[in-house]
Amino acid sequence: MRSRGTNTYGTSTGERLKKSVIDQKIRKAKELKLEAMRDEYGYIFCEDCGRNANAGLPLDCSHDISVAKCQNEGKSELAYDINNITIRCRECHKKHDKIDLKFKKNV
Ligand SMILES: [Zn+2]
Repeated sequence: MRSRGTNTYGTSTGERLKKSVIDQKIRKAKELKLEAMRDEYGYIFCEDCGRNANAGLPLDCSHDISVAKCQNEGKSELAYDINNITIRCRECHKKHDKIDLKFKKNV
């Protein structure tokens, strides 16, 4: 019970990170992800359906493995791994999160 009262999560290397630190790292990872995409393609688009910002839907940074799952499984570092972040339009983001929720129920 040594971490009682403090909001920390484990990583694969056994480190304990405060939720505020994880959130900060996630923000940074999202920035890096957007930057990498702009560098490579010159613009931002949905990686699932290819729509860009002109389609009128917001483009989100979506986690392939949800932040909650990364934290709960003691793999918090995946929450801020840019390889675990996919740019999705709002429509594909919603679709993805529903699939994710369905999987969660079966666990
Ligand atoms: Zn899409």
